[in-house]
Amino acid sequence: MAKLNFAVIGNPINHSLSPAIHKYFASQFNLNDFVYDKIETTQDNLGKTIEAFFSCGGKGLNITIPFKIHAFNICHLLDTSAIQCGSVNTLMSESNKIKGFNTDGIGFLDDLNQKGIEYNNSNILIIGAGGSAMSIISSILQKSKKSNISVFNRTKINAENLIKLFNNNKLNLHDHDTCYDLVVNTTPISMSEEKINLPNKLIRSKTICYDLFYNSKRTSFQSWAYDNGAERCYDGLGMLIQQAKHSFTIWNNLTPEINGLEDKLRKL
Ligand code: NDP
Repeated sequence: MAKLNFAVIGNPINHSLSPAIHKYFASQFNLNDFVYDKIETTQDNLGKTIEAFFSCGGKGLNITIPFKIHAFNICHLLDTSAIQCGSVNTLMSESNKIKGFNTDGIGFLDDLNQKGIEYNNSNILIIGAGGSAMSIISSILQKSKKSNISVFNRTKINAENLIKLFNNNKLNLHDHDTCYDLVVNTTPISMSEEKINLPNKLIRSKTICYDLFYNSKRTSFQSWAYDNGAERCYDGLGMLIQQAKHSFTIWNNLTPEINGLEDKLRKL
């Protein structure tokens, strides 16, 4: 029987837990020929790497940092989830064409729901203006008409461009003195454990913080949030599992069970 080949492409990619998650999902359906690899590439080689993967019979790809926006431009077909946020994290082959989806935004909201975090009528700050920021903002704007979202980014013009793209009066630049209900870090600042340089006064004790990055120990952003007075700050492992569940379903038309997986992965 032919192998069911899947992979995640990124750079760096060593830290990725996606292979462990997808193998756990596959084991629920006795997909014995399921293979899920990590592929590291460069931006110049991204197109060739994706095409080679599918022309060799690959079934599905996840795309991670820093290629989500570049991969969007390589796709021949795009699902609405990708069009709405301008980036992709899930690819599959459809009639010999590469089709892109984005499951990050829905995965993020599923994890907020799972953790009982309110986002429907909230003041939300998104730190960062890259691919994951776009997918999260797009999903919140669709699901919640009442929340106000602000964006703060290292390069201000990138935040301004992102805001222009959505053209929605609920989405604005961060204003100096605003304090938020929910602060979401979508930058990779925790990846390097570098010192966090963010505006003061974003947080009060009731503010919930969320770092998209995940680690076996507390992330730098989580430490920054607790040092600045937050009582609750999560990492992105729950979101990683939820977005993977949606990718797995797109590829295999099967919805895996995720109960207990977060605890299992934290013990790896
Ligand atoms: P992108 O490269 O698309 O965007 C990165 C953003 O972070 C940009 O706005 C960039 O700002 C900013 N940034 C980069 N480096 C720094 C820095 N040193 N200091 C401050 N800002 C910085 O990345 P993604 O959006 O795809 O991913 C971002 C993070 O989210 C990664 O850590 C990734 O692992 C994580 N992630 C986790 C997911 C999960 O399921 N848990 C899903 C998706 C992402 P500028 O505009 O100035 O370049």
